[in-house]
Amino acid sequence: MPIRVLPDQLIHQIAAGEVIERPASVLKELIENSLDAGAKRVDIEIEEGGAKLCRVRDDGSGIEREELALALSRHATSKIANIDDLEKVGTLGFRGEALPSIASVSRTKISSRTANYSVGYSVSSDNGVLSELEPAPHSIGTTVEVRDLFFNVPARKKFLRAERTETQHIARMVERLALSKFETAFSLSASRRSLGDFPAARSQLEREKRVAQIVGDEFMANAMYVEHESSGCKLTGWLCQPTYARAQPDLQHFYLNGRMLRDRLISSAIKLGYRDVMFHGRHPAFVLFMEIDPRQVDVNAHPAKLEVRFRDGRHIHNFLFKTVERVLRETYAGAASAAPP
Ligand code: ADP
Ligand code: MG
Repeated sequence: MPIRVLPDQLIHQIAAGEVIERPASVLKELIENSLDAGAKRVDIEIEEGGAKLCRVRDDGSGIEREELALALSRHATSKIANIDDLEKVGTLGFRGEALPSIASVSRTKISSRTANYSVGYSVSSDNGVLSELEPAPHSIGTTVEVRDLFFNVPARKKFLRAERTETQHIARMVERLALSKFETAFSLSASRRSLGDFPAARSQLEREKRVAQIVGDEFMANAMYVEHESSGCKLTGWLCQPTYARAQPDLQHFYLNGRMLRDRLISSAIKLGYRDVMFHGRHPAFVLFMEIDPRQVDVNAHPAKLEVRFRDGRHIHNFLFKTVERVLRETYAGAASAAPP
């Protein structure tokens, strides 16, 4: 075959293959956009495990009428403007690829209103073709509706699992995102049936309630609160008692600057902190939030941004390991001295 330049729609569909694996990945991208827009409330609705409909409505800043069509264009983003910005990304998104990718494999409609207009506008995309801008009633914020996911990519559609399975993936995804932003309220419903409701959590008690709601009362009952800051790193959250350690590493939630991560360096550093107090082969459970200078980390290292590259991985590793070890040691020392002689 001769070399040829691929049509735009096909380029989008190929790019979509990297990040959009299933309805849960669509929702991850949409909800992250809502959080980047400063939403205090995010309502999620799905039908048929998200395959028929994924809808996310938020009360964030909204998209300007003039920019609605741009939001669906490839490499169009409001989050970075130059290479310096890329070195210190503070938002969850920055590549400007999610919406055009999603739109290329579904029927997508965005409705939005900013504080600058008294009415909202909407634009839809069907098979890569954009509709005219239309007035649409909307309060300040944005609604993105994704229908018939993969209707034009049969090979992908075949990989979707049963409705129940996809719904479970979605529920887990929403829970993980809800853990990352306590001040924002989230709700999830499937065909109008509520699957999760997380009111805004501002006090420590409310935060603990949300964690318990998501990771279980038993985790919370066996958790120690951590708050520690040193050498440019801050760690807060909950670590389980060694006695609550698990056979699988299935209860590990880690957020770096608000972004959920699945990082080997991080989980092994935390596990190392437990080495003196946990049986071999067991895994700690935790919900932890780490804040560092965004310049210390490259978030542009993984298509779904679940892994990052640290400028100084050793430093991060040592900080985590030492902090966990200290918290455990202090708890144990306290318990030992409280015990009768
Ligand atoms: P990215 O998040 O990487 O910038 P996206 O394709 O996800 O790229 O979104 C493109 C742009 O559309 C964003 O930069 C943002 O300006 C706008 N946008 C998308 N979703 C929302 C939303 N819910 N609220 C406000 N603006 C949004
Ligand atoms: Mg995005």
